Amino acid sequence: MGQGIDCHSHSEFSPDGKDSVAAMCDRALELGVSVYGLSDHCEIDYYEVQSYEKRLQKSWAAMRQQKERFADKKMKLLAGVEIGQTLKNPVLAAKVAAQAPDFVLLSLHRTRNIADFSFLDYTTQYASPESRKALLDTYYSELLEMACESDYDILAHLSYPLRYMSHLGVTIDEQAELIDEILRTLVRRGKALEINTSGLRAKDGFTMPDYSIVCRFHKLGGEFLSIGSDAHCAAHLGVGLQTACEMAEKAGFRFLTYFEKRQAQPLALSK
Ligand SMILES: [Zn+2]
Ligand SMILES: [Zn+2]
Repeated sequence: MGQGIDCHSHSEFSPDGKDSVAAMCDRALELGVSVYGLSDHCEIDYYEVQSYEKRLQKSWAAMRQQKERFADKKMKLLAGVEIGQTLKNPVLAAKVAAQAPDFVLLSLHRTRNIADFSFLDYTTQYASPESRKALLDTYYSELLEMACESDYDILAHLSYPLRYMSHLGVTIDEQAELIDEILRTLVRRGKALEINTSGLRAKDGFTMPDYSIVCRFHKLGGEFLSIGSDAHCAAHLGVGLQTACEMAEKAGFRFLTYFEKRQAQPLALSK
């Protein structure tokens, strides 16, 4: 790889993460990425129940140690957080974002009154095209609200619902206007769009979002683009990053962007 960034990953301090922070950093160095960012979860709607305050303190403390251990290495280490469902408690979400050492990913895994996409029943409740359209309209309206109002640096996995609905033939074409509004918001507020490569681990997989939306972002004036594997274990780090780099170049981007101490920094996209 030699180039590229992976600014979306989870350690054992995320409820669904597997490996230690040290193991994640070792693997990132082995892969040769230029910038590696750890972004353990902080689901605002489960903040107390899943003890995110403690988890994040541990995650960031572990990254401080790793930054010392890797001080003489070429790879840059960044400590971040993936904040989900900020609208559930905007004040708390802003407080968490303000504490993040380097960067904040913004995520929507479930809309305000509907369960996570992974738990929805697409054979009954969400079987009809109308119910699916309504679900996606709600999702993108909320995501737009979050993109406008929250404190963050990178918008994560813009086409997240497709992870669970794409095999049903569902697209997000009907939400194109809302998605354009979200992309324009990123441009206006100086935020980055993420190419999430986790889908590429599967056969016939796809990035989130796909190439057409990355191109659209560029056309609308987008300059800041991030890449993340969304790895929840060391073995998944870096998967698909090369593909994402090529996609970024093809869409017209000349550099990737990472955030250090919440400041955007460019990394040239060159072979
Ligand atoms: Zn996520
Ligand atoms: Zn994630």
